[in-house]
Amino acid sequence: MSDIRQRKHVSKEDNSIEDVIQTEDVSSKPHAVQVVLANEDHTFSLDEEALKRVLLRDEVKDRYVCVVSVAGAFRHGKSFLLDFFLRFMRSKYELKQNTSQWLGSEDTPLDGFSWRGGSERDTTGILMWSEIFLTELATGEKVAVLLLDTQGTWDSESTVKECATIFALSTMISSVQIYNLSSNIQEDDLQHLQLFTEYGRLALEGSGVTPFQRLQFLVRDWRFPYEAPYGAVGGQQILEKRLKVNENSHQELISLRKHIRSCFSEIACFLMPHPGIKVATSPTFDGRLTEIDSEFVDNLKILVPMLLAPENLVLKKINGEKVKAKDFVQYCKCYMEIYKGNELPEPKSMLVATAEANNLSAVADSKDMYVQLMEDVCGGTKPFLNEDLMEQEHKKFKDKALNQFDNKKKMGGESFSAKYKEQLEKDIDDTFTQFKAHNESKNIFKAARTPGVFFGICVL
Ligand code: GDP
Ligand code: MG
Repeated sequence: MSDIRQRKHVSKEDNSIEDVIQTEDVSSKPHAVQVVLANEDHTFSLDEEALKRVLLRDEVKDRYVCVVSVAGAFRHGKSFLLDFFLRFMRSKYELKQNTSQWLGSEDTPLDGFSWRGGSERDTTGILMWSEIFLTELATGEKVAVLLLDTQGTWDSESTVKECATIFALSTMISSVQIYNLSSNIQEDDLQHLQLFTEYGRLALEGSGVTPFQRLQFLVRDWRFPYEAPYGAVGGQQILEKRLKVNENSHQELISLRKHIRSCFSEIACFLMPHPGIKVATSPTFDGRLTEIDSEFVDNLKILVPMLLAPENLVLKKINGEKVKAKDFVQYCKCYMEIYKGNELPEPKSMLVATAEANNLSAVADSKDMYVQLMEDVCGGTKPFLNEDLMEQEHKKFKDKALNQFDNKKKMGGESFSAKYKEQLEKDIDDTFTQFKAHNESKNIFKAARTPGVFFGICVL
């Protein structure tokens, strides 16, 4: 694809291409793409086209995705933090390894997702960075890393519902949800996880697979380093304290905590120090490192690689299966549907939407397989194929595709999958009709007998 800008970094060890960074097109600089938007009437819309432009490019669509999202109340430095993620992802392989040079020079302003002071509100929604970072996991697997920013205030009844929706959506579509909190983990913050805990319980009942991967609490402006030190160890202490229950605890608190743990494969917490007065209050602060407290920068050097170094990346899984970029679009679509109403959805409908997307992506995969196999025997560049032979090949490949569909792990059980299997059969048969017509047009003997062509030849 010629319109995609590519930047290649060559790793020192083996000279292989380690990262390829792509943006939507050369005419636009890397930017935040608003993929989910809360409308004025409190409904939500998904910009499916924008999402497809980013994710359905040839280089990206077949890769498994790692989706890192940052969520939480507004004006607590989410976008600011994400811009350090961008610096890390853009830096060369050798700079990521045991050095902090990825942080860049001391006096470069920080750019990327827009961050700013003041209390003006942004539109509520989910933003995706247009650069997709193609990288390799420690296992050698090639993946695409997507970064998501969320926006919104939790300041009135209607915006609380909006934010809960954005929080829920971003948790469902990410493999690492960074829950950005100011100064501490409060009971309220845990309650925002309530919806998932019920969803998690149902999902576990159905498939036995933990529904979500990593939940990373990130406490900003931690003020008690003497009680629990900055970083992951102190974070763990605070987390344990907040999730602990005793026999006097209220039943609701007990079950909330019990279920939170069962929803995520991993729950961690990190305590960040205050970044300093300039970051928090100066109207002229542009993000340069020299104006950020060194203790904050030191912790960034630990936190960012802890989340994004190749060995720490977490693949997005749904129902225990890795998700490709092209399927990711389908999941977003199905999840958006259930958040269309005025109420937060029932956990049950979240599960149905997941099963639906799950089945639809299995249909698409199997159909792709059928088309590819047919292309190889009777595609555009292939010569005319005898009709009986073609019919035989079709039957063989259709069986293969249906088999693949049956064998793929799907949610919702066999009866739920039945209608998708029917749809697959119909899609395949329709495609076969097209292949047949195309094949027919290659049959020059037959073509020569049709009057139109005969007439053409006479005139010549
Ligand atoms: P968002 O709304 O959560 O995305 O917040 P922004 O990233 O736009 O940051 C809002 C303001 O908070 C900016 O003025 C930043 O300079 C400042 N800020 C960034 N990180 C921190 C932090 O850890 N603590 C404090 N107190 N302020 C921060
Ligand atoms: Mg922001």
